[in-house]
Amino acid sequence: MSEGGAAADEARYRALSLWWDGVEGPITPRPSLVGDIDVDVAIVGAGFTGLWTAHSLLAADPGVRVALLESEVAGFGASGRNGGWCSALFAASDARIAAEHGAQAARAMRRAMQETVEVVGASARAEGIDCRFTKGGTVVVARTTPQVSRAKDELAEARSLGLGEEDLRWLERPEAEERLGAEGVLGATFTPHCAALDPARLARGLAEAVERRGAALYERTPVRAIATGRRGRRPVVRTPEATVHADVVVRAVEGWASSLPGQRRSLVPLYSLMVATEPLPESFWAHAGLAHRETFSDHRHLIIYGQRTADGRLAFGGRGAPYHFGSAIKGGFDRVPRVHAALRDALVELFPELSGVAITHTWGGPLGVPRDWFSSVGLDRDQGIAWAGGYVGDGVSTANLAGRTLADLILHRDTELVRLPWVGHRSRRWEPEPLRWLGINAALWATRAGDRSEHRSGRPSRLAAQVDRLLGH
Ligand SMILES: Cc1cc2nc3c(=O)[nH]c(=O)nc-3n(C[C@H](O)[C@H](O)[C@H](O)COP(=O)(O)OP(=O)(O)OC[C@H]3O[C@@H](n4cnc5c(N)ncnc54)[C@H](O)[C@@H]3O)c2cc1C
Repeated sequence: MSEGGAAADEARYRALSLWWDGVEGPITPRPSLVGDIDVDVAIVGAGFTGLWTAHSLLAADPGVRVALLESEVAGFGASGRNGGWCSALFAASDARIAAEHGAQAARAMRRAMQETVEVVGASARAEGIDCRFTKGGTVVVARTTPQVSRAKDELAEARSLGLGEEDLRWLERPEAEERLGAEGVLGATFTPHCAALDPARLARGLAEAVERRGAALYERTPVRAIATGRRGRRPVVRTPEATVHADVVVRAVEGWASSLPGQRRSLVPLYSLMVATEPLPESFWAHAGLAHRETFSDHRHLIIYGQRTADGRLAFGGRGAPYHFGSAIKGGFDRVPRVHAALRDALVELFPELSGVAITHTWGGPLGVPRDWFSSVGLDRDQGIAWAGGYVGDGVSTANLAGRTLADLILHRDTELVRLPWVGHRSRRWEPEPLRWLGINAALWATRAGDRSEHRSGRPSRLAAQVDRLLGH
């Protein structure tokens, strides 16, 4: 590789996100796979799912031969670009899990997610990864009457499912404003079960950790096809320059699932976009709060999310970018000036004193959404194929739970994790185009319009509520 080529690649990786821009030292891709290999477990994709799976396998049994095949570099995907909420949020609601699998299964899932937040912090610490993990909880403010009533409904539902004040509580206005000094706060919900972190530091650190533990990590190695095993034959992975034979192949490409043969309609890539401000002065934080680096949002329909970074910026994101026909994914979709401008406006609306602030970074990326909005993890022993994903934007912690669960499944360990309700879950496939495009973009439009109308009128939007119900929120 020429020096100019290496510099251009480094610039391309640094531009992926605020977090990538802060990666210390040069970003040099690891060697690609150029000859055939035989391993116990081949993992396709080196984001949090792939990396935690390798980590858990090797922690349980250092003798397992693990290879990771990554089309770009470890952490290139959503794992190096997200909002850094390491939360106990799971894509499907507790109420839905309780309805489909029983109250005990819902409680077990909730407990597992809450523990996972701790596990991520402890594992990062144990591996010497300084990913700026701070567990300050999440504050979600309510700024309109409909938002207050949705927040109260959420609390009532939590209580009915056995979640107490220690898990989710209502903050009256003064306490809410102390946590998040945003404009027009009427109250807030608060949960302690979330940490803010720097996701690229975690992903890059994990890549080094799994190598130290013996995994082989091949970068710039795009997988073109996965042949499932059957009748005693092992599965096979094909890359441009090699064939990988394995006992188990783990599909860990999440937002990119639709680009693998046979997976076109399994998960759609939905884009989430983010902005980051310049470092903000103490005078701002004295009023804005987030003293414990609480992650924050509000109770509008279209998701927004923010964190106070370790170096005193606001990193702020939201959904709302269009879904692209045919589940297309392109680097150019990571930046949509209209959506980035809307994010900036939303931030200034929350904190009017930021009207002149410099936005230093804009970025985005695809996350994976299953048709039924229910994340899943599983292993088909006959085919030798394992998978995890469909986290719908809640993958920072869930991918760790997935990695630990996949290790237990692959190593035949009968643990509580392999009995959780998302294990083996299969969603129906997405509709063919153009229905998919029409449906998803109509839902995005309705959600946005609903928020606008609630903001203007102060009355709840029936349209947005209907979309919420349709999506199983
Ligand atoms: C902007 C944004 C903000 C988000 N904010 C949050 C948040 O605050 N909290 C939260 O919990 N979740 C958040 N998410 C979601 C979260 O980041 C993801 O759920 C999580 O990172 C998924 O991890 P993963 O390893 O499954 O997938 P990814 O990190 O996307 O990794 C998949 C990897 O597979 C590689 N790959 C793709 N195709 C191939 C192929 N054919 N061969 C080999 N490799 C391939 C990709 O290059 C990529 O590195 C956010 C997502 C985005 C985009």
